[in-house]
Amino acid sequence: MAETKVRTISVIGAGIMGSGIAHVSAAGGFRTLVYDISADVLNNGKQLIIANLAKGVELKKIAKEQMDSALSNLTFSENFEAAAQADFTIEAIPENMDLKLQTFAKLDRLAPPQAIFASNTSALSITEMAAATNRPSQMIGMHFFNPVHKMKLIEIIKGLETNSQTLQTTEQVGQAMGKETVEVRESPGFVTSRINALIGNEAFYMLQEGIARAEDIDRALKLGLNHPMGPFEMVDLVGLDTRLSILQFLHQTLGEKYRPCPLLIQYVKAGRLGRKSGKGVYDYSGKA
Ligand code: NAD
Repeated sequence: MAETKVRTISVIGAGIMGSGIAHVSAAGGFRTLVYDISADVLNNGKQLIIANLAKGVELKKIAKEQMDSALSNLTFSENFEAAAQADFTIEAIPENMDLKLQTFAKLDRLAPPQAIFASNTSALSITEMAAATNRPSQMIGMHFFNPVHKMKLIEIIKGLETNSQTLQTTEQVGQAMGKETVEVRESPGFVTSRINALIGNEAFYMLQEGIARAEDIDRALKLGLNHPMGPFEMVDLVGLDTRLSILQFLHQTLGEKYRPCPLLIQYVKAGRLGRKSGKGVYDYSGKA
């Protein structure tokens, strides 16, 4: 494990990402407190972590002792003041800037002065979040991937004022969680969301132009370019509405290259949002 002074981590928000981040944090040896405004979400998050750890034991990826040790590191709480006491806080609440600004301003008033704040935002500005606090040099982006306990990468995003100590500590924390890290200067969509959006949009243009069938575009990228998933399989998983909102944001901030393909817009208008709605590029209505 990489050496770090961080002993305690709080995760704010126990949804899809927050529960996954809490899992890898506890498994990485940090005393981890998970906070959410909803007791039901906290309970669901806890059950999901237990189930994923148990699956790891069943598949012999981790020992039973590692599962027990991870669970002993975890606390679930609806007490924000308690959550604010950690050495390192990772925010994973909805992708809404106003909500994130309010949360960081409140955290800043309650947290120890040396504490570092990280946001798991997919695209929003770390610099803007930092400006809501009196510790902009201790604010950083930590972009995890779904499912967090399986995906290897964390994109680490430096805001305008993020200092080297914060960067170094965050890299150490990420490594202790068993992840690889890449450092990215703040920019819309960072590296992964920006490239992925462009590939996915191009695939929609090809489909719209009748260049190939969706299945064949997916097969071409998987078998010819070694992508683990085709672009349409991926967008059906992410959600076509989510992909459209990322493209709209990139189009607005980075320009014409990111203009969302009309076919994608049409699918979203038709309610074809991907797996979650039963139909996206592919039809899932017959599947469980
Ligand atoms: P989610 O909706 O599953 O979870 C958000 C949680 O935040 C909910 O449990 C909600 O109860 C809680 N919450 C709402 N307001 C709160 C508040 N004021 N204080 C504390 N908790 C509050 O969302 P998610 O998919 O886990 O996304 C969280 C963040 O992670 C977003 O910024 C998103 O862009 C980013 N992200 C998501 C993914 C993904 O694949 N879902 C991947 C990378 C990054």
